[in-house]
Amino acid sequence: MNNSYKKAYIAFGANLPFGQMSPGQTVTSALDRLNGGPVRVLRRSSYWQSPAWPDPTQPPYINGCAALETSLPPYALLRRLMRVERHFGRHRGVRNAPRTLDLDLILYDDMCLHTPRLTLPHKRARDRAFVLVPLYEIAPNLRWPRGHKPLRYLVKALADEDKAALYRKNT
Ligand code: ADP
Ligand code: MG
Repeated sequence: MNNSYKKAYIAFGANLPFGQMSPGQTVTSALDRLNGGPVRVLRRSSYWQSPAWPDPTQPPYINGCAALETSLPPYALLRRLMRVERHFGRHRGVRNAPRTLDLDLILYDDMCLHTPRLTLPHKRARDRAFVLVPLYEIAPNLRWPRGHKPLRYLVKALADEDKAALYRKNT
């Protein structure tokens, strides 16, 4: 790995079909599209199904995480994630509305950043079973920036009912 390459982790989520594509197919195609040029997708977690939040009557989500290495700086990586979201039919409207694809930047190297456009580590990732459980699957030795808390402690601290609501899909 070249020194100008940084390690980053993203989370993906989808709960609406995009044309003929199921949420799982959309995620697979999106990660394939993301992979290339300055971005290499190193690992992908399993796909985990989780209930829609905050409205569990909406279709369930396919969630997961991927490990990347990239020569892009963080804002450029975020823009690229947003371009891929748009390619797969993402429209931004009501917050937490169902979506064809959500790609969030969870960690970028050890960077801590707090701006309106980008917060690192991702603001809500630490409390979300549907992010931390797949992240733990692909990076069991990861430590959270700043306090350097091991990811396994963060996973342990999640509510049992949130972890129980997740289940791993075969595909
Ligand atoms: P959410 O993912 O919270 O459901 P959106 O995908 O619509 O909502 O993102 C809302 C805004 O969050 C984006 O405009 C983006 O600039 C900002 N944002 C801040 N930090 C991050 C991050 N780490 N990853 C992705 N988006 C982020
Ligand atoms: Mg998002």
